[in-house]
Amino acid sequence: MTRRTPPRPVDVETLFPELRPLRREAVRLHPRAGRPSREDSSVGGPLLWPADEPWPVCDGEHYERNGNTPYEGEVRLVPVVQVHSGDAPGIPFPQGCDLLQVLWCPYDHDEVRCPLPRVYWRSARAVDAVEATPPPHAEAPAAYVPHPCAVHPEQVTEYPGQDLPEELFDALGGRFDQLEQETGWHYQYHLAQAPGIKLGGYPGWTQEPVWPECGWCEQRMDHLLTVASWEYDGASWRSWLPVEDRPTVDGGEPWCSEQGRAAQNPAGLMLGDSGGVYVFECWSCPERPVGHWFDCP
Ligand SMILES: [Zn+2]
Ligand SMILES: [Zn+2]
Repeated sequence: MTRRTPPRPVDVETLFPELRPLRREAVRLHPRAGRPSREDSSVGGPLLWPADEPWPVCDGEHYERNGNTPYEGEVRLVPVVQVHSGDAPGIPFPQGCDLLQVLWCPYDHDEVRCPLPRVYWRSARAVDAVEATPPPHAEAPAAYVPHPCAVHPEQVTEYPGQDLPEELFDALGGRFDQLEQETGWHYQYHLAQAPGIKLGGYPGWTQEPVWPECGWCEQRMDHLLTVASWEYDGASWRSWLPVEDRPTVDGGEPWCSEQGRAAQNPAGLMLGDSGGVYVFECWSCPERPVGHWFDCP
């Protein structure tokens, strides 16, 4: 089954031509509970991991959250996202690579206190013998270990929400308000950027943007992946909840139906208070340095 974002309720670029140069394409992964195989693109699923490469571990410093005492010693990273290039239109895979794997250490790290992501690019064909994906440590905080989900990738167009430049917000704010009064559509919640787990596009910030800078070229890094706790909230569902997940009862709200509820938190993640982890890379530097940030409402 596919997942399709409903057609945009208004034509953003006709109403606000100033936004046209800021358009970006993102790939919503639309994770839903499932049993992906290691060959599949997935969220929280088994990985196509080469047997001759040790499973990655973290020996960094871990912090306690909500009474979860960090595991002492090396922690096995847990799979977050595996995506084949064919499922990620528009995402610039490095030459020779067609598989993206993102894992993270499921404990709080450093000053932003969030799971520590790691990014691997590889060629699926080059993986010969496959290492079985190990289970997470029994003590790992459940809210940081995504449940296995099948994905239903879909490319969507986004415009900046929190990333809207201040001078443009000053210029457009009055017209955003007018549109909302006339139609009920709120630019930031309904028209700007897709909620949920996605590749590319604009990060799904819940606070002010914090773009990491590349340590090599000193430019702002590129957004690779947003791992959001929820696929929609009480506002964003109105325009972003896929057609297939909408309640069958006319006028119902999504949490009134089983499909709607299943679509909200399929991976069972709770990052802080329903926040997100944002993974960045520098696509100008061949080393592709990685950065990350975390925020929550
Ligand atoms: Zn760690
Ligand atoms: Zn760079």
